[in-house]
Amino acid sequence: MTSYPDDILRIHAYAALEPGPRLLVLGGVHGNETCGTAGIERTVAEFDSGALRLLRGELTLVPVCNPLARRLRRREGERNLNRLFRPSDPPADYEARITNRLCPLLDRHEVLLDLHSFQSAGEAFAMIGPRDNDGPLEPFARAFEEGQLALHIGTPRVVEGWLDIYAAGLAQRAGGLPPDEAALAFGWGTNEYMRSRGGYGVTLECGQHDDPAAPAVAHAAIHAALRLLGMVETPPGAPAPSRPSLLRLVSVTDRLHAGDQFVREWATFDPVAQGEPIGMRDDGQMLHADRDGFIVFPNAEALPGTEWFYFAVASDRDLARPAG
Ligand SMILES: [Zn+2]
Repeated sequence: MTSYPDDILRIHAYAALEPGPRLLVLGGVHGNETCGTAGIERTVAEFDSGALRLLRGELTLVPVCNPLARRLRRREGERNLNRLFRPSDPPADYEARITNRLCPLLDRHEVLLDLHSFQSAGEAFAMIGPRDNDGPLEPFARAFEEGQLALHIGTPRVVEGWLDIYAAGLAQRAGGLPPDEAALAFGWGTNEYMRSRGGYGVTLECGQHDDPAAPAVAHAAIHAALRLLGMVETPPGAPAPSRPSLLRLVSVTDRLHAGDQFVREWATFDPVAQGEPIGMRDDGQMLHADRDGFIVFPNAEALPGTEWFYFAVASDRDLARPAG
């Protein structure tokens, strides 16, 4: 097994002589998420053996973005690398030093595929950013391309709207005041940084951390991205992308007290009907779904004052169609 020392980032780069798209693939942003690393190592081996050939453009792959967290087999080294993701001087901690190395790499690419896995049981899903907009929070003009990437990765579900809801959660906690810039910057991960630099990016959650199928999901996603971008040959007869169900995050609910309890064990994407009980506050107040939707990222162990669960509804966005 390849070793990943704490003080070095291993970066694999392939540049075809024919110009084309510039794709960056990240694995191991969270140390205990190994599927992306496995998918990247397998892809690198395929390029090295000649089984895959880069036709055009540039492909860069970082198998382990947080080697300290990987060595510790934890999500984080000193903190979550996927927050506050932008350059800083001087860097305040280990993850800030990594961020300072990774940001210039993101700057040189236009497409990001960030490979993750998750704690609770559930199927793989992709996370995309906002629709095209020129608002202050996350202005964006490449929603169609980003949606195409998510569509071709082929997960059964795609989730949109994370930063909006993160910002709304901040405002809630601040008693309705608009979140300040520093607090918002905390919500920035790799994709938000990529979009801010004129590129686009998809986060792929490949499955549960220890799901033996997750590395193959990561590997297939890298191939799908390369084919979509015309960077490798598409085998004849490759199937058209299926239609994933698309969910839009609409709210986040904080756990307020260690006595706040879910009414049952929720898994991500469990459907709930309007009026259905979700959890009970410490003081006995019952929380109900205020509309039909889905529980997303439930965290029964959330620290008081942090995100307990997100709520999503079916989205009306069509990834196959340019925005209009
Ligand atoms: Zn992760």
